Amino acid sequence: MTCPTCDITGQNNRTLAVNRVHFRSGAGGSILRKEGAPPLCGADFVCPEIKDLQASGFVKAVLANYQKKLDDSTRLSGATKKLVGNTSRSGLNPSATLARMGEMGMKADTLDPSSRAHFEESSRLLQNPDVTAVDAALGACGVLVGRPE
Ligand SMILES: [Zn+2]
Repeated sequence: MTCPTCDITGQNNRTLAVNRVHFRSGAGGSILRKEGAPPLCGADFVCPEIKDLQASGFVKAVLANYQKKLDDSTRLSGATKKLVGNTSRSGLNPSATLARMGEMGMKADTLDPSSRAHFEESSRLLQNPDVTAVDAALGACGVLVGRPE
């Protein structure tokens, strides 16, 4: 590891200097943040190039990042609830569900473009009550071209 700010090896520009102002030792040799410690300043970082302004910028960036993660998970859990509600009320519509998940930024293997076409095709085939799940899967792989009458 090399610091991108001062080129010193063995630290990066976020590496903190351990001191008794901000930290205390905890069980099992762990290092814990002290309650009521003052905000981090430039001197709390190992890198000599990090000044107070950058230090407060780092802290703000980290806090903003965690706030965003919290907001995202709150938003996504709301979306999941809505999807479950819709599914039980109006019957399963896998394509619409996937599209909605994509809009919400959710990740699913079925959203990957390489598997999406197969999923769409098997979903389409499953809309027909005469098509079994196996037929739908085979159809999605292009094995079953037409259903024998
Ligand atoms: Zn540095």
